[in-house]
Amino acid sequence: MPELPEVETIVRDLAPKLAGVKIKSFKLLHRSLINVSPAVWGRRVVGQKIIKVWRRGKQIIFDLASGEHLVIHLKMTGQLILKSHHKLIVGGHPIVGVGQDLPNKFTRAIFTFSDGGQLFFNDVRKFGWLRLHPASELTAKLARLGLEPLAGQLKGSQLAAIFKNKSKSQIKSALLDQTKIVGIGNIYADESLWLARIKPSRRVEAIKPKEWQALASAIQQVLKLSIKHRGTSFSDYRDASGAKGNYLSKLKVYGRAGQPCPRCGRPIKKTKLGGRGTHYCENCQK
Ligand SMILES: [Zn+2]
Repeated sequence: MPELPEVETIVRDLAPKLAGVKIKSFKLLHRSLINVSPAVWGRRVVGQKIIKVWRRGKQIIFDLASGEHLVIHLKMTGQLILKSHHKLIVGGHPIVGVGQDLPNKFTRAIFTFSDGGQLFFNDVRKFGWLRLHPASELTAKLARLGLEPLAGQLKGSQLAAIFKNKSKSQIKSALLDQTKIVGIGNIYADESLWLARIKPSRRVEAIKPKEWQALASAIQQVLKLSIKHRGTSFSDYRDASGAKGNYLSKLKVYGRAGQPCPRCGRPIKKTKLGGRGTHYCENCQK
């Protein structure tokens, strides 16, 4: 599943290519992909110029000249492929279909742009979606999302405040709650807690101000490093230029059970917490 760093990577790659182009046509191949009728969608989307491409959490947002917003969520297996001037820009997960003809059997929608480019939305499992929202509706929807960890300097006091009513929760489970803070998936939670020297099972109420500050810094550091390396690649994730992200080789604890902790040399432990595989160092995380 693409996580925040992977979505940020896609957005950074697509934004300069799509800003300023007009949507010439739209072909829908999977009816329930969109939130309005195909006729309404056609009327409000086709002919619109894309002003800006950005993201909030893992939602990819196209600002349209009309003032409306087209929102894309890749969910588990969504993939965006921009075919433009004989070049492919690929983002999402997994890579099914690249190198084959487009559209393929997983293509659910096709945008054709005024400059001749085409954007294919492919999705094997069909959990991904496209939505159209007037500005006020988008604002209301985004307001329900948690804190954006990369918007400005993240402070320890902000983390302490958002988790105030989760005092009995284990810190790792709290970090995964997207209504409190967005974009920290399983890998990034484990990595951030290791960097901040906090055990994933610690109760929120037991975390001291100094530790909240360490955690806030660690979250930003981990996400920024991952973005720098274009996300984390497992077998099938590719970024928007079709390359594998290479943050995987930088992971300190995630997927390293039994291997030495890069800080103290003791073996990394793996346990289950809230149903999720969790990696940590028993010696240097308290
Ligand atoms: Zn250690």
